Amino acid sequence: MVEPTTVAIVGSTGSIGTQSLQVVADDPDHYRVVALAAGRSLDLLVSQARAIRPEFVAIGDESQVADLRDALPAAIEVAGGEAGLAECARRADVTINAVVGFAGLPVTLGCLQAGKRLALANKESLIAAGPVVQKARQTPGAELIPVDSEHAAIHQCLRANDVATRVSKIQVTASGGPFRGMTVEQLAEVTIAQALNHPTWSMGPKITIDSSTLMNKGLEVIEANELFGRPAGDLGFDLALDDIEVVVHPQSVVHSMVTYSDGSTIAQLSMPDMRLPIAYALAYPDRYPVAYGGIDWTLLGTLDFEGPDREAFPCLDLAYAAATIGGTAPAWLSAANEVAVEAFLQGRIRWSDIGDVNSAVLSGHDGGTGDTLAGVLQGDQLARIRADEIIRDRFVL
Ligand code: MG
Repeated sequence: MVEPTTVAIVGSTGSIGTQSLQVVADDPDHYRVVALAAGRSLDLLVSQARAIRPEFVAIGDESQVADLRDALPAAIEVAGGEAGLAECARRADVTINAVVGFAGLPVTLGCLQAGKRLALANKESLIAAGPVVQKARQTPGAELIPVDSEHAAIHQCLRANDVATRVSKIQVTASGGPFRGMTVEQLAEVTIAQALNHPTWSMGPKITIDSSTLMNKGLEVIEANELFGRPAGDLGFDLALDDIEVVVHPQSVVHSMVTYSDGSTIAQLSMPDMRLPIAYALAYPDRYPVAYGGIDWTLLGTLDFEGPDREAFPCLDLAYAAATIGGTAPAWLSAANEVAVEAFLQGRIRWSDIGDVNSAVLSGHDGGTGDTLAGVLQGDQLARIRADEIIRDRFVL
């Protein structure tokens, strides 16, 4: 019998983390969870670890390490803090990085520098630390497979062609979020509850708000550029940023597309179900034996496509601007956005202020290159401080 592929799940208590556990449980002959980690949800992490009995468990919040150790059998190794999360990512053949936000960077780097496969659901680490992550990606054995549904789709569409130079465009699809079709005036009045009510995907609060502003789509354009837009990985192509387009597709069935030089477009379709991209990243280059999100074509009905409203959703173009500036500009934008989204969820700013905060922070970018981890961390910190100042000075309701 072939030994099962070992899996580490960092961020196991969140939306992607719990779905990852389901996926692994659906094929226990071939996959086994050996390491789990979460940020601060101690109780759920403990119950997951008791049920699965991994070899290694870590919690990001160091103040909870002693409680975690007390709650688990002595045979399970326990660790804490950023170092504990990074260590978790070195323990398995594949690590699913499902951490929310910039905090996922040590996990991304830990896994790639250990020469292992990274199943990346944490887009912020790649966006903010592009040059540093690209360097880590060159480690022998290191492999980056996207778990973001759009990028998993692009990854699949690119496999349809043997001739890498014949890729002419990538179309990243967007549901448009809960506010698609609304005017700038209407958007000035939207509430937290409305922004959290995504029409097609059930996700954590940060990415749900990012979907409502199209910031998520903007960040995904930068993510696609890092993953596929340069000759970095085995599926990397030398595409210009403007060759990565955004197409609004409210049904979220076409997860993205690749258009070739002869005009042919290849798309990947499935019902919205994150277990499919998770399973894809585990099984690649094979296919997972269990189907998620399979389409019933007799019930599918109409698929619609339209261009994004760039005026009502300015965060999209901010992302193109940040990618064009390069260096730490994407890190600045992503960090500002994390601060702004948190302030919005706390009721401190309005929905429409998120774009204004992001724009104001990005316009003050200091030209940092982001070639080193220290430079990226510094850029992230500067942008957070700047975003906090702007929110305090200008936007307190
Ligand atoms: Mg996505």
